[in-house]
Amino acid sequence: MVVLKFGGTSVGKPERMKKIAELVLGTPGKKIVVLSALSGTTNALVAIGDNLLAGQKAKAEEETVALEKHYQTFIKELYGSESFHAIGQEIVSRFFIFIRMLAAGKFDNKGYRELLAQGELISTELFYQHLQERKISARLLPALYFMSIDENDEPELEKISERLKPLVNSLTNVDIIITQGYICRNNRNEIDNLKRGGSDYTASLIGAAIRAQEIQIWTDIDGMHNNDPRIVKKTVPISELTFDEASELAYFGAKILHPSTIVPAQKYNVPVRLKNTMDEKAPGTIITGKGSSIGSFKAIAAKDGITAINIRSSRMLMAYGFLRRVFEVFENHKTSIDMITTSEVAVSLTIDNSTHLTSIENELNKFGTIEVDKDQTIICIVGQKITEQKGVLKQIFDSLSEIPVRMVSCGGSTNNVSVLVEKQYKEKALNALNEGLFGLK
Ligand code: ADP
Ligand code: ASP
Ligand code: MG
Repeated sequence: MVVLKFGGTSVGKPERMKKIAELVLGTPGKKIVVLSALSGTTNALVAIGDNLLAGQKAKAEEETVALEKHYQTFIKELYGSESFHAIGQEIVSRFFIFIRMLAAGKFDNKGYRELLAQGELISTELFYQHLQERKISARLLPALYFMSIDENDEPELEKISERLKPLVNSLTNVDIIITQGYICRNNRNEIDNLKRGGSDYTASLIGAAIRAQEIQIWTDIDGMHNNDPRIVKKTVPISELTFDEASELAYFGAKILHPSTIVPAQKYNVPVRLKNTMDEKAPGTIITGKGSSIGSFKAIAAKDGITAINIRSSRMLMAYGFLRRVFEVFENHKTSIDMITTSEVAVSLTIDNSTHLTSIENELNKFGTIEVDKDQTIICIVGQKITEQKGVLKQIFDSLSEIPVRMVSCGGSTNNVSVLVEKQYKEKALNALNEGLFGLK
């Protein structure tokens, strides 16, 4: 069985939705199709939710009206016949009645998460009815029947697998099973989600849960590029990546994949293929456990919104147990550390979740002098076994000779070198590395 995931832009226009029906039909065997919300929808729902939480009901209603109009136009173009126009109209009305019902009640975080789930719920229904109109046999399998996260917001892969396998096996007479990306239930059995961009993660969790042959992520670009195409002009697609390389790139900001996508696939060794909906002939990128070219630079990614914390303490010198106590502070606040460097009298580390920064700072104060730098960017340079090659660091630092580097991390794994720069130098750094490491200008 194959899992095919189509992102927001791949379902965002009626003609694109029709196109993905073709792509699904062209894939032999039984498959699970995971859909995102239409592009722009989740952003719109976030805006509506934020306004409702802030008590701005009129503003939320204005945005709801605009979103509803968008769907009205969408269904007019998606369906050909009168009877399916009526079905589309019924679906849109039902969703927007529900959204307004949520808005009218006591709107809290639980309601907010229910609101965010509507994007994927509506896109999958609209697609299912499109297949119905074309007399293509398919089933809708609600993700809320099987997709769950625990009290730490971590997906429960084994439970997902136990629920999903019998559900899929029960659908014997059908090759196309459609489900929602992104949405799930939490440990209170409420509707929740896998965080922004989470449909990729859904696809990978499903692929791992059913031990699929392959997980295909269909998006608006021809695979993972060697650098961020939103920032660097000349970038090129990479044909092969290892799970480790792809994982680093996703975690460190390559938006094409949700940061955790590779984890479940890697666990059960299910290949992940990245493909372009707009150019299906393009080879894309295949991500597997097999080693690809060793020793050369593969790609660069950048992650913004990083906070660097420096703890300077004369007592740290020779004090065993010091780092453990520092790490405990972060653990107690459920805040993970990305980069870390130490000297005899100081330790610098970075976090990307600054929700608990004030409490963390207060607790760290007892260890010494604390300095905090916000708006930093981690730039991650990836390639299998690059750290074992001669001259790699020289090449990286020659490229970055005009840029002040705040921290460096090398040696944690053999496949990446990370540097921390102020966000204002990100664009310059990515372009300089593109030229220095890949000869692309
Ligand atoms: P989808 O809606 O299909 O999930 P996303 O917008 O989440 O699509 O991801 C695709 C986008 O990721 C591309 O359009 C591209 O701008 C961006 N991107 C960032 N870094 C990379 C990279 N290294 N390779 C390819 N795309 C990247
Ligand atoms: N619709 C969700 C988002 O925009 C999930 C996704 O598209 O992957 O974040
Ligand atoms: Mg995405």
